[in-house]
Amino acid sequence: MKLWAIRVPRKMAEDTRKLLLQTGIIHAEARIYRDNEYIIIPVNAKPDLGELAGIPDKNITIIQAEFETKQKKPSLENLLGFTPTFDVVGDIAIIDADDPDAALIASALMEFRKSLKVVLGAAGPVEGEFRTRQFVVLAGEYRTHTVHMEYGCRYKVDLAGAYFSGRLGSERQRVTEKVKPGQCVVDLFAGVGPFSILIGRTVPGASVVAIDKNPAAVELLRENILLNRVDNVRAVEDDARDAAVELEHRADHVIMNLPQSAREFLDSGIRVARDGGMVHFYDITHEDDLYQTSWDLIQGAAARQGRGVECVEKRIVRSYAPHQYNVCIEFQVIGNEQM
Ligand code: SAM
Repeated sequence: MKLWAIRVPRKMAEDTRKLLLQTGIIHAEARIYRDNEYIIIPVNAKPDLGELAGIPDKNITIIQAEFETKQKKPSLENLLGFTPTFDVVGDIAIIDADDPDAALIASALMEFRKSLKVVLGAAGPVEGEFRTRQFVVLAGEYRTHTVHMEYGCRYKVDLAGAYFSGRLGSERQRVTEKVKPGQCVVDLFAGVGPFSILIGRTVPGASVVAIDKNPAAVELLRENILLNRVDNVRAVEDDARDAAVELEHRADHVIMNLPQSAREFLDSGIRVARDGGMVHFYDITHEDDLYQTSWDLIQGAAARQGRGVECVEKRIVRSYAPHQYNVCIEFQVIGNEQM
């Protein structure tokens, strides 16, 4: 393309370019080039001398010249023509296997995100007691396991065998900040350990009991305890209800991160909390009833044990489905003497 341009000796090129950048007259799409001892800088329109204040006149020439167009930096979005939705866990990207563009998105991700080694297609919902899902490998290495980094901890994960989501990192950090040094935490649905291990690693003197019923999750949890060198997290493979019997009135914090069915475990969660202890209860609720039904169930469960509850905080963690939210209600358990 033919454009107005400023020709300056090479030794002045950098200073001139900086001055011109401030005026905003450099043409954004044309490529600056060299011609013997001169640099030719494309500009948007014929410049007047006022715009060139600061550059010694005798050294510059205003000319018209042919320029090549700058190559646009290729990006995932340019290639696809849209912004794809995907999650990342370690070096694995997860997309929807039913997306009609799944194969195209998978190969574009492999090309543009060099840190990714696998693209998995989620071939169904998160389901069942162990909250796992089916995957198909769409691109890259044939595996579902990886190591995920989060807030300075490393987690071995096998997406096909045990639940893990990288989207909850800031939620885990938020809960961790509520735990005080020396406190006892019971993580009733610990999975591969991201709440438990972060607390164990970062809260001085804390002790954590991390329970999960899925043997594959507990195997990874044990490996993650070693990987992160935490000696204050105890892994227990058990049903949360059975484990709760042994841990009655023990915990300063009880984490109930099984949003689809944590309501069924409210009695156990409250049972584990000591008087004054805090329960972090996760639920899936409708936008028309974000907290009330959950709160009624919490109060009912406490009353059955002759205890009371006081709400400390309630919040939306993330949107879950149209009109449905993953919420967290944090409440303190009050003993009958304090009521
Ligand atoms: N807290 C973990 C995290 O943030 O990754 C895992 C959460 S995942 C939503 C819920 C976990 O609860 C799963 O690992 C599942 O195996 C476990 N689980 C389901 N039913 C259980 C039960 N009755 N007792 C103990 N664990 C259970």
